[in-house]
Amino acid sequence: MQNKKIKRLLIGTNNKGKLKEIRDLLPNFVETLSTSEFKLKSPKESGKTFLQNSLIKSKYFSKKTNLICLADDSGLEIDILNKKPGIYSARWGGKNLDFKKAIKKVYKELEKKNKNWKNKKIRARFICALSICYLNKKIVTSVGKVEGKISNEPKGKNGFGYDPIFIPLGKNKTFAEIKPSEKYRLDHRFKAFKKIKKFL
Ligand code: IMP
Repeated sequence: MQNKKIKRLLIGTNNKGKLKEIRDLLPNFVETLSTSEFKLKSPKESGKTFLQNSLIKSKYFSKKTNLICLADDSGLEIDILNKKPGIYSARWGGKNLDFKKAIKKVYKELEKKNKNWKNKKIRARFICALSICYLNKKIVTSVGKVEGKISNEPKGKNGFGYDPIFIPLGKNKTFAEIKPSEKYRLDHRFKAFKKIKKFL
C-alpha cells in the first residue's frame, strides 16, 4: 500500500471505448498515458478470474513502460449461461472485437439453452476488476458490479460492447439507450473506481 497520491498513470487497455470511459472517471489532475502511445500489444489473458486478468495487464504494461499502470478486466456474466461470456466477453467478439458478432453469440447460446428465454428474466451483471500496479507490485485492486437483465433484442446506439443488450436493474432501457453521462454513474467501472478513489 502506498499513501502518496498517483499523478501520472498509464491506462492499460487497447480498447478505445474503455480508454475513454476510464479517462472520464479519473480526476483531472491525473496525467494519463495510453498503451497505444507505446505501441504495446495486450498480453495474453490467461487468468481464471477478472481480477487475475486485470493484474496480468497492469503488471505487464507497467514492466514494459516503467510507469504506474491501471488496468481493468471486465465483462458480462449471464446466469443461465453458467456466467458466460464472463472473462471471455471480449473474445466472443473475435479478433476484431466485433461486438455485433458477440451479441449474436449471446442470443444463439440463449436460444440453445432455452427456446422460451424471451419470456423469462435473463439475469446478468457487468463486472469490473481494477488494479493498479508498479512493475510486479500490486498497489490496489477493487471489484465493481452492476446487476441487470438481458434485453430480448439489441437497442440503442451509445456505448460499446454488450451495452445494447443489457438493461440495468430498476431501468427499462439498455445501457446503449441511456445517455453516456448517466451510464458512467451506474456502471461496474464507476463502482470499482469509487473504491480506489483515495489513491488518485
Ligand atoms: P477486456 O476487459 O478487455 O477483456 O474486455 C471486456 C469486454 O467486456 C469488452 O470488450 C466488452 O465486450 C465487454 N464490456 C466490458 N465493459 C462493458 C461495458 O461497460 N459495456 C459493454 N460491454 C462491456
